[in-house]
Amino acid sequence: MTKKVHIKTCQIIRDKYKDGEFITGVDIGVMAFYLEKHRWYKQKTGGQYYKIYVDTNPVYKTRGFFIEREDGSTTDFSFYECIYPTKVFKQDFIKGARAAIAVDITATKLTYFDATTSPVCVLCEKPISINNSHADHYPIKFETLLNDFIEENNIKDFEKLIEPENWDNVTGCEITDEKIKFKWIYYHMKYAKLRMLCPECNLRLK
Ligand SMILES: [Zn+2]
Repeated sequence: MTKKVHIKTCQIIRDKYKDGEFITGVDIGVMAFYLEKHRWYKQKTGGQYYKIYVDTNPVYKTRGFFIEREDGSTTDFSFYECIYPTKVFKQDFIKGARAAIAVDITATKLTYFDATTSPVCVLCEKPISINNSHADHYPIKFETLLNDFIEENNIKDFEKLIEPENWDNVTGCEITDEKIKFKWIYYHMKYAKLRMLCPECNLRLK
């Protein structure tokens, strides 16, 4: 089976059930097969017996699978992560890298708006304010900067860098390796250039 077929299989099972409904019959064995491939299988199940149900994720508003453990505690798990494990580690690292520089971005915005009398979007020249603007990485894109950093530091083992402390219903990501994290923050401060855009122009670039 190709990865696409695996994804489709999970989607078909998911769509058979209503929110809050426990999966039954052969679906249990199929979903357990995928769950065992999850990188956080041990943490997700907590070594307990579990039941799987379908629900809507309160944060992402998407429908997916959840576990209810023997002790009644619950957690979500993404079947995409069971099927594309390595890719997700890198995606988490990217999320963590974004979170790490959030303070730097805010500081840059504060300085910019403090020093500029009539700030306008550099593309459409509409007036902007600190709360109604976006700091865009330009001319070097954020992704390019981060990829250069990853290459220069020969980072390959993303798994070890982003393991969260709390395994349940994780939404944000943090780079947990302090050395790498601060190296990245410093690298970003040194090389990143930002321009201020209005939210509309920023969306248009995406
Ligand atoms: Zn604009």
